[in-house]
Parts: sequence; C-alpha cells; structure tokens
Amino acid sequence: MRDDTPNSWESRADSYSLYGFTDLPSIHERGAVIVTHGKGPYVYDVHGRSYLDGNSGLWNMVAGFDHPGLAEAAKAQYDRFPGYHAFFGRMSDQTVMLSEKLVEVSPFDRGRVFYTNSGSEANDTMVKMLWFLAGAEGHPQRRKIITRINSYHGVTAVSASMTGKPYNSVFGLPLPGFIHVGCPHYWRFGKDGESEAQFTERMARELEATIITEGPDTIAGFFAEPVMGAGGVIPPSAGYFQAVQKVLKKYGIPLIADEVICGFGRTGNTWGCQTYDFVPDAIISSKNITAGYFPMGAVILGPDLADRLQDASEAIEEFPHGFTASGHPVGCAVALKAIDVVMNEGLAENVRTLTPHFEAGLARLAENPNIGEWRGKGLMGALEAVKDKATKTPFDGKLSVSERIANTCTDHGLICRPLGQAIVLCPPFICTKDHLDEMFDKLEKALKKVFAEVA
Ligand SMILES: *Cc1c(COP(=O)(O)O)cnc(C)c1O
Repeated sequence: MRDDTPNSWESRADSYSLYGFTDLPSIHERGAVIVTHGKGPYVYDVHGRSYLDGNSGLWNMVAGFDHPGLAEAAKAQYDRFPGYHAFFGRMSDQTVMLSEKLVEVSPFDRGRVFYTNSGSEANDTMVKMLWFLAGAEGHPQRRKIITRINSYHGVTAVSASMTGKPYNSVFGLPLPGFIHVGCPHYWRFGKDGESEAQFTERMARELEATIITEGPDTIAGFFAEPVMGAGGVIPPSAGYFQAVQKVLKKYGIPLIADEVICGFGRTGNTWGCQTYDFVPDAIISSKNITAGYFPMGAVILGPDLADRLQDASEAIEEFPHGFTASGHPVGCAVALKAIDVVMNEGLAENVRTLTPHFEAGLARLAENPNIGEWRGKGLMGALEAVKDKATKTPFDGKLSVSERIANTCTDHGLICRPLGQAIVLCPPFICTKDHLDEMFDKLEKALKKVFAEVA
C-alpha cells in the first residue's frame, strides 16, 4: 500500500504533519490516505483510488463532498463580505439571520445563540456560561459538571474533561469537578436478570446518588448526547432521558443536549432530543450545522438560560467571552444554506426513508457469530465485535480486531471507523440504497476475512 519514496505524499505527510487520534506505528506501516477531492459520498486519494465514505468525513459531510449550492453560498458571501466578528455589539447580517433560523428550528419557543468554531469550543462556552451564571446569581460553588462514561464532548481542556473516555488520563484529565456517571448501554451494562426499564431506573437512581454525594448546590449542569457518538454509537436505554430529567429538575440542574452529531437530521428528526422526546435547557450544535463546509459551533440557549444570561451580563456589564471568528459571515451563510439543504431539499427525509434499509443491513451483518449486537438510530449505527456472542466476551485488545476490519475496508474502497471493538457507520444523507448496499457488502467481506484470521 505505502509508497515510501521520499517525495511520496505518504512520506511528506509523515514528515511534516501530525495526525489526530491516529495509531502512529500502523500509519507508518500502511501509509496515510491523502485525499484530493470528492463526489457525492465518495472521496478520491492522490493515487486516484475512490472510497465510499461510510463515516461522512467525521459525521459532518452529510450533503456529500461536491454539493454545488453550499460552495456557491460560500463564494457569494466571500464576494459580498468575507469576514467579520461578533464582538462589541457588532455582527454581520448573516449572523443575525442564522440565529433567527436556529431558534426557529430549535425545540425552544425563544432563545439566544452564541457562536464558536467547533463543538469543543461550544461545550467550553456552555460550561463558562454556567460558571458565569453561578457567580452572578450568588452561588459561586455551583461549578461541577456531570457527564457520562463513554460520552464524547470534545478535546479542549474543559470538553476533554467532560469526555468520558480513559484516553484523557494521558493529559492528567479530567480537571477537578468533572464527574462521570454511568453509561446507559443496556446490552453492555445491564445486570443479569435486570429488565431495560429496571436498568433505566438504576441509571437515574445512581445519578441522584451522585448528586446527593457531591452536594446538589455544587452542580452547574448535566451534559448528554442524545445518542452517544464517538463513544461507540450508543442509544440510551428506553425512557432514559425522561428518568434523568426528572432527577435533574428536582435539583434545579440544567440539562444540556450535546447535539453536535445528532443535530440536523442524523437520528431522523431535526434534533436527537426530539427523537427521544425531551426538551433540554440548551443545545450544543456543530458538525452538520454547515454540512462540514465551514468550521462552526453554536450554543443555543433555551428561554430560561437566555434570560438568566442576559440578567447576569447586565449586572456584570458584559459576558467576557468570544472567539475572533465567532459568527463568521461566510460560516453563517454556509450554515443557512446547509440547514435549508438538509431540512428542505429532502436530505432529512432521505434519512427517514433509508433508515429501515440501513437497520436491515446492520441486522444482517449482526447474524455473524462474532458480532455481539448491532445498535443505532437513524443513519448512525455500530456493529460490536465479540469473541463469544453468548457471553459478550470481547476479543483480546492486542488483536486490534476493529482496526483490522476498518483497514481491510479501506483497502477495498470503504471508509469506516473502529471505535473500541465496534465498527461505526454514519453515511452521508445523500446516499442511495445502492450506496448502502455497497457499504454493507464491502464491510461483510472484511468481517469474514478478519474473523477468519482471528478465530
Ligand atoms: C465532534 C464532537 C464534539 C467536538 O466537536 P469538534 O468540532 O471536534 O471540537 C463535541 N461533541 C460531540 C457529541 C461530538 O461528536
């Protein structure tokens, strides 16, 4: 695979660039995939090979890689007004329009929007808002943040502290005051003889016990992805959000929905919280908000938090926070177009149309004796590899089973992602049934090959 001549793209990439979340020894052996362009759901590398991107880039390229309307929206805005900030009482007209649109499509009757350049920064911003409110409202001790094991909220020092994955220990994270409660993955964490409803009740009881132990008046907020994404595509157990929200309301703790992946159609509705029938106090958005055509994140505050932030900012004279490129006019123009494309040009509709076919494909591959379960919602899904299906025993980590499956797929022109021992699929919303069939066929061949090697 790897072209090792000194001037090859692979060598140049390794010499001068750093990769995120990459197994360096294996990339040195295999060579990076250097992509030049895309067409629909496919990307093309420097050698002219094509890959069906079963992960929509990083969940976000939902309109595919060559959507003409999105490129045109960006070009038109670059021509009109190429950049501005949202500080000191100034902002672009595009920013004004996007905020109106975001509140209109949100589950809130009214609200206010704050922009960032990424999902991590949006989570950081939300935490700073909660800390700011705590101070301004006379509860300076109300600073702790609760999230869940296996959640993914980003990589900045605060959002990495929120992320419930062990890899952050290499940074000495989480920071103090970031607390992780149980992951609502019934298949993995349900006890013998425990029904799903009992499991959900236990999750809520454990949350309440944690709140009481920590001190209810020390907790600033609870953050949750409606479906956990980068933690392995984990839908909540039945009734989870209703049970958890009841506990949070009892103690006056805001529920923040991290909709960075679920938002704008991924689970079949505009928001994941709609799919699971709850209304949070605020929404964190990024990724699909621009269909990946511009870096952007947003904090969408519901009415209560919006009013409180306004009062607190008046009392302190300002909310001292913001990024230079927050509310960038090109990003806002692209987001306005992306929201229109997803919601009004049939993409969200296509997610709903394709979901039964997607689920049937996952279910078919899950018949493999080395697939423990399939799970998912809308167009996000995962297959969990196991050594023993009956006991749900995972493979020895040293075998790198999911990495080998994903690498085999890459060799056959399919990009999919290993996450723990699972393989994650989240294809672009523009896919057809044929694209999904191609994806499942390639994945099935890779599963057979790798399981034959390790069995
Ligand atoms: C990707 C992701 C983030 C972080 O967004 P970045 O833009 O990578 O900083 C936060 N939350 C969730 C749920 C995500 O999937």
